[in-house]
Amino acid sequence: MNDIANKPAPTPSEMSQPFWDGVEQGELRMQTCSECGTPRHYPRLLCSVCYSDGVVWKTASRQGKVHSWTVAHHPYHPAFVTEVPYTLVVIDLDEGPRAIGRWDGDTPVIGQPVTGHFVAREGGSDLVFAASGI
Ligand SMILES: [Zn+2]
Repeated sequence: MNDIANKPAPTPSEMSQPFWDGVEQGELRMQTCSECGTPRHYPRLLCSVCYSDGVVWKTASRQGKVHSWTVAHHPYHPAFVTEVPYTLVVIDLDEGPRAIGRWDGDTPVIGQPVTGHFVAREGGSDLVFAASGI
């Protein structure tokens, strides 16, 4: 489907289906290597440390700190044109990997503690981070 009027919907693969099942439950599920315990996000076939394909899915805390952020003034997809400008953040999750999401709040600060949650929208859900404790 390449419909510019509709927001893009996820197309889960066999490998990413557990992640998307978690999204439906409001959980950020993350692969963890069954050999060396290294967490990884986004879902992928091999561990970047030991190259094992063994995996265990765990639910992440959705807690982390702001690594970087930017303001999008041009939509990455035409269906988001009415939402610009919006802020995108890169988060160092407490589990180790980084995640990208939308931002809800005043200007983010590098190192600021955050909590993420999923917000349902047409065609899927967005991972949205906000300052922790607010
Ligand atoms: Zn490993």
